[in-house]
Amino acid sequence: MNRLIRRNLTINVFGMKTRWKNFCSDSAAKVSGSNGNHSYVQGEKPGSVDNFPQHDIAIVGGGMVGMALACSLASMPLTKQLTIAIIDSNPALKGGASIKKGSPPDPRVSTVTPATISFFRDIDAWKYVEEQRHAYFDKMQVWDYTGLGYTKYHARDVNKEFLGCVVENKVLQSSLLSRVQCTDAQTTIYSSRLTSMDLHPSGSPTVAANISSKTTLNDPGHLAKLDLSDGSSLYAKLVVGADGSKSRVRELAGFKTTGWNYSQNAVICTVEHTQENRCAWQRFLPSGPIALLPIGDNYSNIVWTMNPQEATDRKSMDQDDFVKDVNSALDSSYGPPPNSSIFGSQNFFSWLKPDVTLSVDEGFEVPPKVVKLASERMVFPLSLNHAKNYASKRVVLIGDAAHTVHPLAGQGVNLGFGDAHSLSKVIAEGVALGSDIGEVTLMKKYEAERKPANIAMMAILDGFQKAYSVDFGPLNILRAAAFHGANYISPLKKSIISYASGDQRLPLFT
Ligand SMILES: Cc1cc2nc3c(=O)[nH]c(=O)nc-3n(C[C@H](O)[C@H](O)[C@H](O)COP(=O)(O)OP(=O)(O)OC[C@H]3O[C@@H](n4cnc5c(N)ncnc54)[C@H](O)[C@@H]3O)c2cc1C
Repeated sequence: MNRLIRRNLTINVFGMKTRWKNFCSDSAAKVSGSNGNHSYVQGEKPGSVDNFPQHDIAIVGGGMVGMALACSLASMPLTKQLTIAIIDSNPALKGGASIKKGSPPDPRVSTVTPATISFFRDIDAWKYVEEQRHAYFDKMQVWDYTGLGYTKYHARDVNKEFLGCVVENKVLQSSLLSRVQCTDAQTTIYSSRLTSMDLHPSGSPTVAANISSKTTLNDPGHLAKLDLSDGSSLYAKLVVGADGSKSRVRELAGFKTTGWNYSQNAVICTVEHTQENRCAWQRFLPSGPIALLPIGDNYSNIVWTMNPQEATDRKSMDQDDFVKDVNSALDSSYGPPPNSSIFGSQNFFSWLKPDVTLSVDEGFEVPPKVVKLASERMVFPLSLNHAKNYASKRVVLIGDAAHTVHPLAGQGVNLGFGDAHSLSKVIAEGVALGSDIGEVTLMKKYEAERKPANIAMMAILDGFQKAYSVDFGPLNILRAAAFHGANYISPLKKSIISYASGDQRLPLFT
């Protein structure tokens, strides 16, 4: 039987304040609402300064990563009493109802790693994902258009049940929101956008005594002021930029970035098969990789990288022609399937025989045919971008605001969840010590933990992108050798799987 817990969540919709009644149960939270006064989730109201609300933390951006941080903070005993503002005009945050399994899949999906799944389990959010559409996969096949090599990864190779899970982005976001609504968190959602921010306002007000956290400070100058697009303002001790690759927080805080555009776009869409697909497939073509990812039922998701002109053409071309192109890109175009190779067979690596992985015995497979386009086609420009610093006094960056990577290995949001996990632990440490949570030395701890891990992954993905962008005889052979090495050399293969699963260790023979 459903146990209903009543919650009030503040929603400030374009200047209108709306009270939402949330009914939270063991199943995904459902939300209904009616107009009313500003109200707060259980616990003390946030304080106010100059009649502007004052919070411990303002998370700018309630996307997957911002919501994961809110959820993680709401789940930990040390941080759950912090008052949190989430600022985002995305209408999805006004809802919170779960997404029905029968509804058409959204083409925006993420492959989440076992490390991300553990994090979601720890913060009690994975159960909401499991109630909605998702697809675990235990097998992955990666190959090259030259027909010279392929690699197969199997969860069995590392004694795991699965390699990852493909989930629609809106399912991840709504699951995190449902979880926040089911906690005692003091969370206020501002349905608006950040327009300007003053991190050290002159004559900055004293933190009011009724702030609920242990980090209450009584000196002036301990708050940042945020101005929103609906004309309202608020104060916070710490501003978290979780506002994506074009982060306004990053710009206003003056964080410099390095990066480049790939001159490649990704065409994404949902497609249908006649039977369920249970494997993640990726073929490297001269213009970029095409991935076919299972998303449950008879659906798969396509992420197809190509040059911008091709992407424009493929977005608008006839649906049947598009399906034909997809099938040929996943099968016979550009080169033969890799059933034979210049390296002969696994005998080339026979000296490693005592330690071969189980999937070595499985031959190359042709992916299941696509029969129908099942969603609109969307196009995303691809770039690499990295903030030189993630933290300074009163402000910190997480997720795509700090780093944007090529989607070829499906790692972007997983890195962001790693940031959210790490930052919430650092904030908890600060609370335990009674420190100012916006203090730069505390925030630099988070930066020190995440920056090396993110840079390492970015370098690997960028290297892959470059290695597979060139069609040149000797390089093709080197790539094929790399595929074969990765397929047959067991320690390397296991360590690639572990790293791609979210382990911190680099894929080396360690
Ligand atoms: C084609 C493609 C496929 C991908 N596939 C994968 C995959 O399989 N696995 C994976 O791990 N990653 C994948 N990624 C990467 C992943 O989508 C991103 O890393 C992820 O969306 C980043 O999440 P985020 O919450 O940091 O930012 P976003 O998702 O960009 O969210 C930012 C939020 O901030 C809000 N916002 C923006 N500006 C403001 C403002 N001024 N004020 C208030 N709010 C604001 C926005 O409304 C939005 O809700 C893929 C990316 C692409 C392009």
